[in-house]
Amino acid sequence: MAKKFNLPIRMCISCRDRQAQNQLLRFKCIEGSIEIFDGIGRSFYICKNCLTQDKQVLKALMRQCRSGDKDKFTNRLKEIIADDRKS
Ligand SMILES: [Zn+2]
Repeated sequence: MAKKFNLPIRMCISCRDRQAQNQLLRFKCIEGSIEIFDGIGRSFYICKNCLTQDKQVLKALMRQCRSGDKDKFTNRLKEIIADDRKS
């Protein structure tokens, strides 16, 4: 297996760019909002670039979760971005 050291490639649901998994954050939809993926249920990826592109990423989230409201997503995204900067 020559590709052993390659990082897995995943697609961002917002810009649909393919990137190495460590450049993306993994989320899941939960009751009209989003959470960092905890290993249960379906997940999706958003790249760090898109996290700050409110309009575009919100559209993608609405599509992905099929429900929820924009304010919830916006607030949750802000929290997630703040947490990500701390770590
Ligand atoms: Zn993206």
